[in-house]
Amino acid sequence: MLHRYAVIGNPIEHSQSPTIHAAFAQQCGEAIDYGRILGDRHDFAGDVQRFFAQGGLGLNVTLPFKEQAWALVEERSERAEVAGAVNTLIALADGRLRGDNTDGIGLVRDLADNHGFVFAGTRVLLLGAGGAARGALVPLLESGLRELVIANRTPERAHTLAALGSGAVPVSGCGFEALAGERFDLVINATSSGLSDTVPPIPADLLAPGGWTYDMLYGAAPTAFCRWGRAHGVAHSLDGLGMLVEQAAESFRLWRGVRPRTAEVIAMLRAAD
Ligand code: NAP
Repeated sequence: MLHRYAVIGNPIEHSQSPTIHAAFAQQCGEAIDYGRILGDRHDFAGDVQRFFAQGGLGLNVTLPFKEQAWALVEERSERAEVAGAVNTLIALADGRLRGDNTDGIGLVRDLADNHGFVFAGTRVLLLGAGGAARGALVPLLESGLRELVIANRTPERAHTLAALGSGAVPVSGCGFEALAGERFDLVINATSSGLSDTVPPIPADLLAPGGWTYDMLYGAAPTAFCRWGRAHGVAHSLDGLGMLVEQAAESFRLWRGVRPRTAEVIAMLRAAD
């Protein structure tokens, strides 16, 4: 019997999640059927309720429903609680829904496991304070980094996000202009500026020697932030395709109890670009 999963969003036709999960299922020998659902912008809760009432076991949630999914669930992981957004819905045995957010752990695993970035002792800059940045907060603070700075176009949102940090690791928020004279080992772009092929207004000398850049955005051509990194002598300039596959792998693990190998799936998607 096929176990049913799906990704829900609006729009949804561009989603690569069905391809990724089909590859995971084949690799792990798991009998799952993973589909796409075009969510009703006015009845997300109804769509979710119908999917699970018809025997569905898990959903991935994408734009614009991650915050609604957070509000809908009866139980949340800590990282989802802080993120204020849920991208993974899990049907519990007692009929309740649990929400998790696997975006941030996907980011950390891509950097650490796939590319060998060593977080221990590093000073990291997170650009942006929207949903993607919020999802990254707890996994970043648990990565072993020494200090996290969050910079955002609207500085108040960076301050608010920084205040959600646990306290064990120094974390602060600021606007872009406050970055003058600062140096970081890793700069992560979690703004949506790349959608208009631009880079946030950050100083040119932001990177410490041997520094890395990571753009959560990805595409067939290098993103504006990847190009910025290369133009500023970065050691490694990565895009977010690996994060996409790693967040899916964490969802798959939560649902199926088995962690798929991701490298071959990332390579398959790269080759298809
Ligand atoms: P969001 O919630 O709409 O937040 C957008 C963020 O970008 C805010 O911090 C906003 O600042 C900032 N921003 C927007 N336009 C800007 C500009 N022109 N200059 C500087 N800052 C700007 O979006 P999101 O969901 O966090 O997504 C952010 C990015 O992450 C998108 O590119 C998305 O594709 C990517 N993402 C990738 C993955 C993955 O798996 N690879 C997963 C999730 C998201 P204000 O607060 O001032 O408005």
